[in-house]
Amino acid sequence: MSSPQAVNAAVDRFDPAPSKATSSLITAQARQKREFDKLQKRLRRCVGHAIIDYRMIEEGDKVMVCLSGGKDSYTLLEILRNLQRNAPVNFSLVAVNLDQKQPGFPEHVLPEYLEKLGVDYHILERDTYSVVKEKTPEGKTTCALCSRLRRGSLYGFAEQIGANKVALGHHREDILETLFLNMFFGGSLKAMPPKLLSDDGKNIVIRPLAYCKEADIAEFARQMEFPIIPCNLCGSQPNMQRQVVKEMLAEWNQKHPGRLESMFKAVTNVAPSQLGDRQLFDFKGLEAKQADLMADRIHAFEVGS
Ligand code: SF4
Repeated sequence: MSSPQAVNAAVDRFDPAPSKATSSLITAQARQKREFDKLQKRLRRCVGHAIIDYRMIEEGDKVMVCLSGGKDSYTLLEILRNLQRNAPVNFSLVAVNLDQKQPGFPEHVLPEYLEKLGVDYHILERDTYSVVKEKTPEGKTTCALCSRLRRGSLYGFAEQIGANKVALGHHREDILETLFLNMFFGGSLKAMPPKLLSDDGKNIVIRPLAYCKEADIAEFARQMEFPIIPCNLCGSQPNMQRQVVKEMLAEWNQKHPGRLESMFKAVTNVAPSQLGDRQLFDFKGLEAKQADLMADRIHAFEVGS
């Protein structure tokens, strides 16, 4: 399929008296462009809503966009760049890639891409690959330690360059997968918040793609022809449990359209009194609450009579 740029060019070259074949080609291309515009608008709308709902970006913010070279982070940068041009608040963007020194990492790809865009950027070099290889026992998955080290390096760097927000490319499915992984293996009802204060209190992390569907992002990345860098250069096996949950969610979604939307809504619509966490809800104090309610009712009755 041609890229949106190629489609634009084809539509621009529109011949006022085209042959039948040319005309149907142009119609198909125009349709494709329309679909792409709709997709782009949908992603922008979802990001805009998430930013407003969680007050992710404010006037004067310096947002560090973590760019791994995967479809999600390229999409995040692209949509934020667009919002930056149209948003009612002024904020700056700086893209940061962490070169983890994985063998075969194509060092030139991101600098070339970012130079072409004219985006402010840094490539941070940290050999977390050797640390992960050294510390992880043979046969064990390396992703957990790798992600922890990556997070530490990026958060520290954000502070160094004065970025007060760190934007990550996690999307709706990442959030739901994490919810189920925590339930299945961690015994806790928690997901991945759209906005978060880091444990040491130094960084505010935002996930502007929180409302976006992974399928939309994948399609956008494909049509934009982003120069994707795979995340398996380290030779690690993919996280099997996450993969299993991903497939489970995809199957549910196929059999019961709308289920993922409903589950995501549930993440943003929690009723602590209908769960069992004693830290979140005062179950022991229900009798006292009941007595207060009764007293209020009696008082209202006496005043009214
Ligand atoms: S696949 Fe490799 S680079 Fe990606 S998170 Fe896992 S260990 Fe790190």
